[in-house]
Amino acid sequence: MKIVILSGAGLSAESGIETFRSDTGLWANHDVNKVASLKGFRNNPTLVHDFYNDRRAQLQNVEPNAAHFALAKLEKVDGLEVLHVTQNVDNLCERAGSKNLIHMHGELLKARCQMCGEVFDGDGETSVSESCPECGFTSKWGGLRPHIVWFGEMPFKMNEIEKAISNCDIFVAIGTSGKVYPAAGLVKIAKSYGAKTILINRDEPDNLLDFDQIIQGKASIEVPKWVGQLLNGG
Ligand SMILES: [Zn+2]
Repeated sequence: MKIVILSGAGLSAESGIETFRSDTGLWANHDVNKVASLKGFRNNPTLVHDFYNDRRAQLQNVEPNAAHFALAKLEKVDGLEVLHVTQNVDNLCERAGSKNLIHMHGELLKARCQMCGEVFDGDGETSVSESCPECGFTSKWGGLRPHIVWFGEMPFKMNEIEKAISNCDIFVAIGTSGKVYPAAGLVKIAKSYGAKTILINRDEPDNLLDFDQIIQGKASIEVPKWVGQLLNGG
């Protein structure tokens, strides 16, 4: 059986990760257009480098929750082929043990050269004074930029994701608002190819009609429960 998981902010929220769209916390103090767009980066690169350095630092203070662990466990079950596509840029899935993972919106812990496109492990901080270790490129914005998909940019590996979705038996969306395209359109692809579509989310999503089954509740409670039922043939 082939399963594609699409996870969003609701998966990591209970671990204490702030989201783009939350009304409180760190993001609320920032205009997303200033910190999550190429234009914002061009206008004030220091602000943007610092912003993602802070997000990186925040990762050290959070832990994966029961939902991350349940999904990692699902990957290891014999007879299941699981692809986990996440919109989250944190590393909580990896820390819970997920291996078959696509970060469609990028990764906080990686940086990318603005010239040659080489991707680097960004454990360290990026800044305007840093040049690309590969090609030496530098500019007034620095050589490297956060390896994050900003507004107006294409998510990563969309072909691979759509191929997996068009070929899966179960598509489960977890903790995603259903508001952000193209992720929000992926459920439509799954449904059009005949997959069973499931939503596990705290709030009702906008694309409700595309789901065969809706489980409303906290990810840390409902995801382990759903995994348990699936493994028991439910
Ligand atoms: Zn380079």
